[in-house]
Amino acid sequence: MEPVSTEIKDHRFLKELLSETDGMLIEMVRGFVDEVILPIRREMELSARSDFKLIEDLQRKLIPLGFQGGFLPEEYGGMNLTSVMTAGILAEEFGRGDASFFCAPAGGFWAMRPAMFAENKAVLNEFAPRFLGEDLYVACFGMTEPNGGCNIENMDMHGLGIRTTAKLDGDEWVINGSKVWPTNSGIADLYLVVCTTDPELGDDGIALIYVPVPTKGFSFGRFEDKAGFRGSREGDFYFDNVRVPKEFRAAGPGRDAELLHDNIVYARIFSAAWAIGCAQGAFDEVLAFTKDRLAAGKPIRQHTIGASILADIAIGIQVGRDAYVNAAYMYDHPEIYGPRHSKQMLSRASIAKVFCCDVAVEATNKAMELMGSYGYVTDYHVEKYWRDVKIIQLWEGGAQLGRLDVARGIYDYDQFYRNVMYNKLQLKK
Ligand SMILES: Cc1cc2nc3c(=O)[nH]c(=O)nc-3n(C[C@H](O)[C@H](O)[C@H](O)COP(=O)(O)OP(=O)(O)OC[C@H]3O[C@@H](n4cnc5c(N)ncnc54)[C@H](O)[C@@H]3O)c2cc1C
Repeated sequence: MEPVSTEIKDHRFLKELLSETDGMLIEMVRGFVDEVILPIRREMELSARSDFKLIEDLQRKLIPLGFQGGFLPEEYGGMNLTSVMTAGILAEEFGRGDASFFCAPAGGFWAMRPAMFAENKAVLNEFAPRFLGEDLYVACFGMTEPNGGCNIENMDMHGLGIRTTAKLDGDEWVINGSKVWPTNSGIADLYLVVCTTDPELGDDGIALIYVPVPTKGFSFGRFEDKAGFRGSREGDFYFDNVRVPKEFRAAGPGRDAELLHDNIVYARIFSAAWAIGCAQGAFDEVLAFTKDRLAAGKPIRQHTIGASILADIAIGIQVGRDAYVNAAYMYDHPEIYGPRHSKQMLSRASIAKVFCCDVAVEATNKAMELMGSYGYVTDYHVEKYWRDVKIIQLWEGGAQLGRLDVARGIYDYDQFYRNVMYNKLQLKK
């Protein structure tokens, strides 16, 4: 495939922002996506429709390269690869190939971050070594519930939307409730579950608790059948008096809420990058297609209207990339930009996520238009990016809560201002 015109000397962003190790990791993944994933994108989707063997075999190849346990602290055998900038750029690279392929390795980092940041030795001693083995060890972050994902993500609701309960009984948490949609549900070995010890406690009631499988009373529903993102598996899971040691709570009252919000901010930046990767994948395809395909006697991309659409896609991708890289840099430097769980950081991350998803959905749509019916068939892959990127826009707050979260960081916006829930929620702060 010919080089993409938005690149300046092979660089899509300022290379000075990356450490040498992280830069090498990204180069390696770029090569892996070009040589291994891109040629078999379609086969990977077909594998996801049957036994997932092809996908899992490829994921195993990443284990020796540090993709499963590299995020862990060095004292636990990892490489301390916790930069969100690097994670985001890796997500973009995988998104250019097959975004969903990255779910299994990325799930470990998302789920283990609260224990790492809380320095929870019980959890790290028990589970960190398992990420360092030779076979797949997958984790899952379970937040969304049947009564709504955004009700849990919404900072102004102070945990009031959580229905999964955790009650302390002696030295154990007893968990009851259910989750819907978590990525890696049903295949993961370890689950980080968002619970409430008591909704009346507000943020202090939010509890992040680790649950391994198998554990008595922990069961699973079927996998969801989705339009896209087929290389990952999502489903329901249920807790019926599930018991785990009390040390498996990430931190404690108040701090768990901060860690939850931190994980949400992180996932917004990561999702922004993933969406840009999908847009870049579609852009590479349409750029090549419109070079050779003739309309009215000349290549489509030599028509002014074609060039204008391609330019708009390139602008969206590059500005989106700049937005997520900027948010990631700020997130990676709390000593300069303040706490990662703050409303201001959520707002920054949401600006990147909402913008990147909007431009990526539009980019895949426009790429398809420029390719006519060829954009709609599986041979040219653009329809795959179109199907994949839509869910990135829908999850993690969606386009609507995402926008409200932008407002929260700009002024004293409170969604429940002067309505019935207002007083009740104020008491919980
Ligand atoms: C492929 C896939 C992977 C997923 N992975 C995970 C995962 O790993 N872990 C996990 O926990 N969940 C996961 N989810 C679930 C996903 O995060 C949720 O579906 C998402 O957060 C939205 O929740 P919801 O579907 O319940 O929609 P709702 O919360 O019901 O929202 C519906 C609509 O209402 C809007 N809205 C919500 N609240 C407000 C408000 N206060 N004001 C105005 N508008 C509002 C939303 O923006 C949206 O437009 C995944 C879903 C999919 C499809």
